[in-house]
Amino acid sequence: MSVRVRFAPSPTGPLHIGGARSALFNWLFARHHGGRFIVRIEDTDLERSSRESEENILNALHWLGIDWDEGIQTGGPNGPYRQTERLSVYRQLAAQLLAKGQAYYCYCTEEELAAEREELLARGELPRYLGRCRHLSEEAKAKLAAEGRKPVLRFRVPENRIIIIQDRVRGQVEFESNGIGDFIIMKSDNIPTYNFAVVVDDHDMNITHVIRAEEHLSNTPRQILLYEALGWPQPEFAHISLILGKDRAKMSKRHGATAIEQYQKLGYLPEALVNFLALLGWSPGGEQEILSLPEIVEQFSLDRVAKNPAVFDIDKLNWLNGHY
Ligand code: GLU
Repeated sequence: MSVRVRFAPSPTGPLHIGGARSALFNWLFARHHGGRFIVRIEDTDLERSSRESEENILNALHWLGIDWDEGIQTGGPNGPYRQTERLSVYRQLAAQLLAKGQAYYCYCTEEELAAEREELLARGELPRYLGRCRHLSEEAKAKLAAEGRKPVLRFRVPENRIIIIQDRVRGQVEFESNGIGDFIIMKSDNIPTYNFAVVVDDHDMNITHVIRAEEHLSNTPRQILLYEALGWPQPEFAHISLILGKDRAKMSKRHGATAIEQYQKLGYLPEALVNFLALLGWSPGGEQEILSLPEIVEQFSLDRVAKNPAVFDIDKLNWLNGHY
């Protein structure tokens, strides 16, 4: 099976160092294996998404020299590649899960959910949804709807399951389904949540490897349960480590500019930045640090992506920039 990977940014701001590194690792993996690289826009957060951010992200990718074979602007056989243009697909599958009893309507208010969270925290348990609306009668639902409550659709998480992820970077990672709680797949405005839309799209777009930031690792068991419920094969997962500053704190503006466009404006060379980004978590076999793009493509492998956090060192970027 040929490799198909994707970069799936949420257009809620400019392209940052972390996002650019995710895009680059996917691109390198595709180019190394002669596969396809897809760019999809995850704009289901209607309030925070904008076309301006989308353009900014795409421009930054162009500037870095990261091109794509399918996706936004380019098109392809598996589109549309903007999630707000695919709503009918998610709605149809959500209806299917509802009909099979794998999802249910939940009418809980923010206040009720907050009270539940607090109660669990007070008991020293992880906050999660305990399934209050799992068994509502039709009559009860009608009554809640008459009160003007608009329901969300929740996925019914199976009980007592251990969900195992064979992560290409992190190794075997296990989660207990009892700690997850029934999660929302369609919001009350009939827009899908990230976890639902991402599974539907990765399946529809025949994605073979999901390479993304470690912060999404805890979403992965939810996504695996959705693959199972929909009867779909899972892609392989690879979660790349956090980026920390030299002081070991999560990378922020204190450590250097975070948005790619800032480096462009400051006159950095895209080749130097790409070389730098490639070394943020990946290392070539030898000692060589200045690598041309063809060299990086040739050597790139997930086996050499580190499990421990990557350290952002602006001095190293400046040093590399001076050598191009
Ligand atoms: N839209 C998500 C993000 O920007 C994508 C995560 C993923 O790659 O699954 O974080």
